Amino acid sequence: MRPGYGYITPGGYHLRVPNTELLYATDAYLRTFEARVQGVTGDGGVILDRTAFYATGGGQPHDVGTLTWGLGSANVVEVRKDGGQIVHRLEGPAPERGATVRGEIDWERRYALMRHHTALHSMSGVIYQLYGATVTGGQMYADRARMDFMLPDLSADRLRAIEERTNELLAEAHPVSIRFVARTEALQIPDLIRTKVNLIPEDIDEIRVVNIEGVDQQADGGTHVANTREVGRVRIAGSENKGKGNKRLVIVLE
Ligand SMILES: [Zn+2]
Repeated sequence: MRPGYGYITPGGYHLRVPNTELLYATDAYLRTFEARVQGVTGDGGVILDRTAFYATGGGQPHDVGTLTWGLGSANVVEVRKDGGQIVHRLEGPAPERGATVRGEIDWERRYALMRHHTALHSMSGVIYQLYGATVTGGQMYADRARMDFMLPDLSADRLRAIEERTNELLAEAHPVSIRFVARTEALQIPDLIRTKVNLIPEDIDEIRVVNIEGVDQQADGGTHVANTREVGRVRIAGSENKGKGNKRLVIVLE
């Protein structure tokens, strides 16, 4: 991730890419879906007309799961964006072009990623509210997450305050909503300006906004839980100096 982009990954905001409708962009809780095979790449990667599989981007790793069709089935082991396409890499032979497939994502892993993603955005809102510090990067895993931000002075007291305030906010059960706003409108929203919405490529004229109501608002392509209470509690498991005032926090969910 380039510094200064926050969680923003250019190209991560779309409802669809040229060949594929991105079902997770509007329904993060969709676990199974039916789709048609639009094409198979030279190395056996499958392109679908619609998918609930998240492709790696914006600090959130891709989903894994299965595709089932006719007499076949295969594990989906990687999902990536490649030249404007979403490519599902399978373990084993791919279905033929035109085949109808049923996809199922590994929900336990995905839900853990959603909880960590919403935890990071919540904490990013807290760090800004408490210290005016802006986030410069983040990465989620199924069992932890990390976040980088600019804050020269990060004392043990401040770490405690960040953890406490984040847990208070999570317990307050703030709804998390997704909406799409016109680029011109997005450029007027203070939260989005703070997270550098202006750096989104100009050819994207509709921007997906993840709003943790009253806590944090960001242009973001990832999947989130519907309410902060689903995150539970966070614990700061470590902090690190990354130089030039940049700090890194590692969090785990309890
Ligand atoms: Zn994000």
